[in-house]
Amino acid sequence: MRAVVFDAIEGQPEVREVPDPTPPPGGVVVRVMATGLCRSDWHAWAGHDEITLPHVPGHELAGVVSAVGAGVSRWAVGDRVTVPFVCGCGRCSWCLSGQAQVCPEQQQPGFTHWGSFAEQVLLHAADTNLVAVPDRVGFEAAAGLGCRFATAYRALAHRANVTAGEWVTVIGAGGVGLSSVMIARALGARVIAVDRNPAALAVAAGLGAEYTLLTSPTGEASPFSLTAATPAAGAPALTPGTATPTAGASALTSGIAAPAFGASALTPDTATPTAGASALAPGIAVPTAGGLPLAPNIAAPTAGGLPLTPVFGVSDAVAELTGGGGDVSVDAVGGEQTCADAILSLRRRGRHVQVGLLPPVDGHPRVPMARVIGWELDVLGSHGMAAADYPEMMALIAAGRLEPQRLIERTIGLTEAATLLPVFDQATVAGMTMIDPRLI
Ligand SMILES: [Zn+2]
Ligand SMILES: [Zn+2]
Repeated sequence: MRAVVFDAIEGQPEVREVPDPTPPPGGVVVRVMATGLCRSDWHAWAGHDEITLPHVPGHELAGVVSAVGAGVSRWAVGDRVTVPFVCGCGRCSWCLSGQAQVCPEQQQPGFTHWGSFAEQVLLHAADTNLVAVPDRVGFEAAAGLGCRFATAYRALAHRANVTAGEWVTVIGAGGVGLSSVMIARALGARVIAVDRNPAALAVAAGLGAEYTLLTSPTGEASPFSLTAATPAAGAPALTPGTATPTAGASALTSGIAAPAFGASALTPDTATPTAGASALAPGIAVPTAGGLPLAPNIAAPTAGGLPLTPVFGVSDAVAELTGGGGDVSVDAVGGEQTCADAILSLRRRGRHVQVGLLPPVDGHPRVPMARVIGWELDVLGSHGMAAADYPEMMALIAAGRLEPQRLIERTIGLTEAATLLPVFDQATVAGMTMIDPRLI
């Protein structure tokens, strides 16, 4: 069969002939009809995961069962199927209770073994992990579910338990983020989408985000500088010049209460003064006009020399738009700043879901835990979604209430996938990239 293969970490992937897989006991081989190109594939190529070389990436797939191993009872050749990217062992207590997404013996195609950037892929423990794809749901829509869409669904519907009328802030408008926007709207929530890519925000607005917040082009700046708050039709406008005086104000260290609702609390190492703002060392209070330190939770005045500028932190803008902070936040990026912005954008007793993987800093990601404690915030992790939980989501898709196919930006062949993989960390995408292995 043809497959995208790389022989070394950060080596150039190429399309070449490799042996067809044969199904192991309990497993199947699936003829791949569609497979998503995801940032996680780039991470594996870049050496951030433990993989065995040579390697075939790809973990978001849908297709048709082409061979069935011994002991498989639920599946037959010709069945239309997809899988979660986390495949459980099918034997442990977690798998047997429907929680395969945390199986200690989990397999992940494209990571623990060869993946789906190929004409065929091997899948383990088929009776536990395969999900039937209804005829009404296309292969591309189904392939998009396995990683990003299902992860977003579980994060919002089953971890944060989003209910109608709540405000949900989604930071990052890539695959998980755009999925989150669509799903939050389907759950009846009001959505604010945050990203540095205007095209991605335009897609988010089209999916029902009530506001989109454009961050600085580099995205690395901290705190993020918002250059636009774009209300959808009918939503009240956020006027930068009328924002709270803390917009652009000093960054405080954790352990010191923010001067006003929603101001960014940064650690000293990451505090980068915005225009007119000053980064404070721990234990130094915000100066006021009269030189007296401010008590916690009292708004910082600007008369002391901090100019009012139309520069916002994400949390300031969300507080302004929602009247005090969102109910739920999602960090769909996975970064120290995006995680902090998401947590600090919450109102008291809000719920944060961390989906993007946080890179370690000195061994541990830095998270604003002082706010988490003081405001009784819930910080939740979410890791894919077990096959056992798919029927509810698949029913919403088959009924047209969720439309993952709207998130697909383009479809490419294996050759273009091999070219794109090494630079996918820099790709500016406004939706999902699908691969059809039947294309050249
Ligand atoms: Zn993925
Ligand atoms: Zn298991």
